[in-house]
Amino acid sequence: FIQINNLLRTYQVGENEVAAVNSMEFEIEQGEFVVILGPSGSGKSTLLNLLGGMDQATSGTILIEGNNIAQYSLEELSRYRRSDIGFVFQFYNLIPNLTAKENVDLSRKLCKDGLDSTEMLEAVGLAKRLHHFPAELSGGEQQRVSIARALCKKPKLLLCDEPTGALDSNTGALIMSVLWDISKKYNQTVIVVTHNAAIADTANKVIRLKDGKVIDIQINENPLPMNEVAW
Ligand code: ATP
Ligand code: MG
Repeated sequence: FIQINNLLRTYQVGENEVAAVNSMEFEIEQGEFVVILGPSGSGKSTLLNLLGGMDQATSGTILIEGNNIAQYSLEELSRYRRSDIGFVFQFYNLIPNLTAKENVDLSRKLCKDGLDSTEMLEAVGLAKRLHHFPAELSGGEQQRVSIARALCKKPKLLLCDEPTGALDSNTGALIMSVLWDISKKYNQTVIVVTHNAAIADTANKVIRLKDGKVIDIQINENPLPMNEVAW
């Protein structure tokens, strides 16, 4: 489904070239719940941005269902980003003067046959919050709106960069289990970047990064249920 080969992204910093993503290789299957772990500066966000078409690789291949997006032009990348990618950020990024449902509808309009916004808000447990504004919702609820917003366009990939970074640990655990449930219910490929190593045993696959390189890939044949993990 996704195959990464020899992926490189370098930045020029003064005289030096920094490899934020360096010779990465891995595969991801459709419907997998994948966690990317690594210390600050290890290249997690850079990798996610490359996968989501928000950045261009220096070299290497990123095959998504057979298409090498690492060779896409900026215009092709922007089309790919719109139609194939759902993004969830640390700070929700909801539009403050639109209700939960209006926020989701706005994203849904960008694609031809998106999923019903009410159904998506129900799927993340917000059936009773459809007409609330972001300021009337808790942090965890706002993050659930942003997950529904990302999902309603039926993305090939749901990419989440530290989705629990701004939440307390109980709410964070709840958000992770919402993401897990969505992944299994809709056979949705989900990739979550986090600092929280406690989540590792709950994922189908864990990719550990250090200094821009993949240092370990852990495959869990029988992932632990989220509620059996101490956060
Ligand atoms: P964090 O956990 O702090 O979010 P991260 O794993 O997401 O870290 P990245 O943001 O991917 O790390 O950064 C990886 C490396 O690339 C770092 O050394 C960073 O300084 C460098 N880097 C990232 N973006 C740029 C940029 N635009 N220009 C120069 N260097 C950059
Ligand atoms: Mg980051």
